[in-house]
Amino acid sequence: MQYCGVFCSSTANISISRSNASVRTVFVQRLPWMRILTPHGNRMTSRGVVYYRTLNKDIDDMKTTIYALVFVALGSALQAQGSTAVLPNINLDASLEVTAADLRAHVEWLASDELEGRGTGTPSIDLAAEYIAREFLRYGLQPAGDNGTFFQTFDVITGAQSSGNSLAWQSGGESTTLDSTQFMPYAFSASGSFTGTPVYAGYGIVATGEDIDDYAGLSVEGRVVIVRSGYPDDVNPHGSVPVLASVRGKEVTAREKGASALLVIMEEGKSISGLKYDGSPARTGIPVGRITAAAARRLLTAAGVEGKIDGEFKKGPAARGPMAKGIPARESGSMEVQGRFNVDLIRKQTRNVLALLPGSNSDGAEGVFVIGGHYDHLGWGGHGSLYRGEIPMIHNGADDNASGTAGVLELAQYFTANPTRHSLLFMAFSGEEMGLLGSGHWVNEPTIERSRVRAMYNLDMIGRLPVATRRLNVQGIGTSPVWKELVNKFNDAENFDLALIEDGHGSSDHSSFYSKDIPVLFFFTGLHTDYHRPSDDAHKLDYKGQEEVVRYIAEIVEASDALESIPFTRVKKTEKQKVSRFNVYVGTIPDYGYSEGFKITGTSPGSPAEEAGMQDGDILLLFGTTEISSIYDYMTALSRHKPGEEVPVVVRRGEDEITLTVKLVSK
Ligand SMILES: [Zn+2]
Repeated sequence: MQYCGVFCSSTANISISRSNASVRTVFVQRLPWMRILTPHGNRMTSRGVVYYRTLNKDIDDMKTTIYALVFVALGSALQAQGSTAVLPNINLDASLEVTAADLRAHVEWLASDELEGRGTGTPSIDLAAEYIAREFLRYGLQPAGDNGTFFQTFDVITGAQSSGNSLAWQSGGESTTLDSTQFMPYAFSASGSFTGTPVYAGYGIVATGEDIDDYAGLSVEGRVVIVRSGYPDDVNPHGSVPVLASVRGKEVTAREKGASALLVIMEEGKSISGLKYDGSPARTGIPVGRITAAAARRLLTAAGVEGKIDGEFKKGPAARGPMAKGIPARESGSMEVQGRFNVDLIRKQTRNVLALLPGSNSDGAEGVFVIGGHYDHLGWGGHGSLYRGEIPMIHNGADDNASGTAGVLELAQYFTANPTRHSLLFMAFSGEEMGLLGSGHWVNEPTIERSRVRAMYNLDMIGRLPVATRRLNVQGIGTSPVWKELVNKFNDAENFDLALIEDGHGSSDHSSFYSKDIPVLFFFTGLHTDYHRPSDDAHKLDYKGQEEVVRYIAEIVEASDALESIPFTRVKKTEKQKVSRFNVYVGTIPDYGYSEGFKITGTSPGSPAEEAGMQDGDILLLFGTTEISSIYDYMTALSRHKPGEEVPVVVRRGEDEITLTVKLVSK
């Protein structure tokens, strides 16, 4: 949707068949009456009108009619946006100020079991989306999503499903068929049929720098490669081996060697559990599955693999026995493995919720401040959860990030009574826990012109201000020269122990904006032991502290609004920040929302990637001699090089394929 200033008609944005006139009036006026009409944020039914009438008998009939129409319009507006949700009767206070009571009310609903942890792509998160939209509407904000709605819809991959898999072999006239308790494809496996003689390749690791080659002397072209999981204890855990020893890493190696499929032997005694999606939609190039130790032993025995097999598939120093050296299956070809793996990614739609509050002197071309926070969380756990219990539990995500969502709502309400010069765009993002997907989607497909965004404020986990230390993390200080003075100035009254971090990149939605050269500030009250666990509950939050944080943010937004400009600066990484498992440092910033290959959203300042001329949107095709079809190929490629090497890199940029040269440095 195009930017819509205060004087444009909102009827273009909301399709309501009845009462167009009153709705237009209401939106231009920013719904000043709504504060009277819904002092308690009641469910929007005609009940509210009756309530109002009985309390305000002096209102003339015409106005009452308009109020009634406004109520109809509010209900219709949400219905026009596909809402069928029945939302609760939240008891909010009438104040337009940021209050602990309102923050608590929002958090308690958003983090209630009814919303089942707001997992992206689940029906429950839609309740949260409807709730946020209803609040935006109640405050009189303009829809700022797709087609005049409060919602911006996008696709996400939420998991994988698999059925109809088979794995069998024939040996000496006998055929053996495994059942689903004995093998299972990985969630990231390619789908397809495969055949081939089996070959055992130890750990399946080739790490030239560390003198490990489990494929030495093996010919695996067109064969089914069987490897054990993990890596031996006697290798450097900080070197390249752990990456190469991941299942994805082993698949890259096996695929490059020409294998038709890869089977990874599970640890002794472990049984097959369900398909576990690892949060990355990148698929492997060949079918990859796991097989129980017992079933693998049968297969390897049938294939004539020599050596001691019993008790071999355990972690520990003893693991580096003859089995680890890659004893080939007999080459007779008399035995053939046949299999079929079917894995389908589950695609769902999810929604960012967006609303615009036009600036007081807005003429349609003014700047915009984005105030955002993600409203999704981990649902019932799964990828990203730190919970290790057996019984599935709802991850309510009160601090992460019902707290930030509540902050965004309270700021939206506050600013309706405290207008800013520039417009404010309030955003509740989905898909954050799956890799900043909602904010990443918005910056790539913005619903207003991105060039108008002056700065972005991100609220993620702001509900647990430590009482003793009052420590508040503010990140992104280095993304504009104006930030440091601002955040310190307003801290005089608040007396937070500010932990200021320069970097604009981090594991939350501000990162998406920073990667598009937008100044950012990220507010965060710190990690705790309930983080990403089912125990992140509403009663653990300090709402008074949260209120102080949100008021502090409001002051910073107001002061930013008064500034002539907010220049953007990129933050030079310090050596310490270049955290990497590799010896080499390149400085690419991956686009985790892109599933068709390895795409970058930018480069770190002064990094080899920047010096090589890599750009936002480049898709890497080749790194040295390694073909890149996912971030895992890229990680494998990195582990194959040393600092100081000049490596040719082929990227696709638009229609072109460009070869660049990256001079690797040490991390
Ligand atoms: Zn989180």
